[in-house]
Order: sequence, then structure tokens, then C-alpha cells
Amino acid sequence: MLDACYTASAVQTAVDLANTLRPIKGEDALETVEQLQAFLDDHSVAEGTGPRRRLTSADLAEAREVRETVRAVLERASTDAAGAAALINDGLLHNRATPVLRHDHDRWSTEVTSDTDRCSAHLAATTLSALASVITTLGPARLGVCAGPTCRATFADLSRNGSKQYCTRTCAHRASVAAYRSRNSPR
Ligand SMILES: [Zn+2]
Repeated sequence: MLDACYTASAVQTAVDLANTLRPIKGEDALETVEQLQAFLDDHSVAEGTGPRRRLTSADLAEAREVRETVRAVLERASTDAAGAAALINDGLLHNRATPVLRHDHDRWSTEVTSDTDRCSAHLAATTLSALASVITTLGPARLGVCAGPTCRATFADLSRNGSKQYCTRTCAHRASVAAYRSRNSPR
């Protein structure tokens, strides 16, 4: 199921949403309606199917709540899978997530969306169902938080061997340089 480009992009949407908050740096890239609109424009998978309408501050507040849930799932899954699953299940139920079967470009796929016109509900349905499919196909340990001591960004590891510890190559490189320095520094 993870071969489907839809799911991979939905997983990326979940991770990107969680990472709009950088807890250690204290940076938040989801503070305005414009920032929410830009996020949705960059992640077309989260838009839903209803007619587009202007986003409001209520949409922003709801989207931030969805982010909190998505981040909690990513942070918790590898150590408390049952807790992460409960968060996903509650979120899907609360947002009236509904699977729909689609036929595009000669192939069939299922997509989880919401039967409401609230953008946050589509965002929740898309991202939480994507994280659910990572858990069911690859296991909860594939969701995690970067081991970089000053990072705490979240990631989903869709690689074959599943050994990801860092959010990006930059963070992995920084950690290996730091480890090398501490091994080679005089005591
Ligand atoms: Zn990192």
C-alpha cells in the first residue's frame, strides 16, 4: 500500500505538518491563516474534495489542533504504540474520516477523506490515516523523532531497512561530526 504515491505524499504531509512546529528552536510556521493556506497549497493531498472557500482563524485553530495530534502520534508511536493508535482512532472518528474508492489514471485507489467541509477535518483524515497505514504496513517504530540533540523534528521512515534516526542527512552528518570530535578530543 505504501507504494502508492498518494500514501507516501500523505505521510509526508503528516510529517511536514508536525514539523511546522520546532519546539527546541521555538519556531512556529503555522501561526497565521496565510501560513495555513500556503501549507495546504504545498500539500495538495490535504485539500479535500469540496469547493474551496476562504480560510478563517477558526480553520487555523483547528489545523493547529490537528498538528498537535499528529505530532503526538509521531512522538509516541515507537514507545507507546497503543497510545498512538488511540490518538489516531479518536482523531479519525472526531473528524468523520471516511474511506472513498477512486479511479484515476487507470488505477484504483482508496483515499481517506472527511465528509465535512472543514479543511482541518480533511487534513486530519489524510494525515492520521497515512500514519495508520505506516503503522500497519511497516510498524510503529517507523515513526519517530530526530536523535539530533537540538532538533526534535519528527520523521516517518519508509526506507527498506528502517534504520532512520535523524530527520535529515544534515542532522545525521552533524551528529557524526560531533561524535568524531568527542572521540578525538584530548581528555
Ligand atoms: Zn533533525
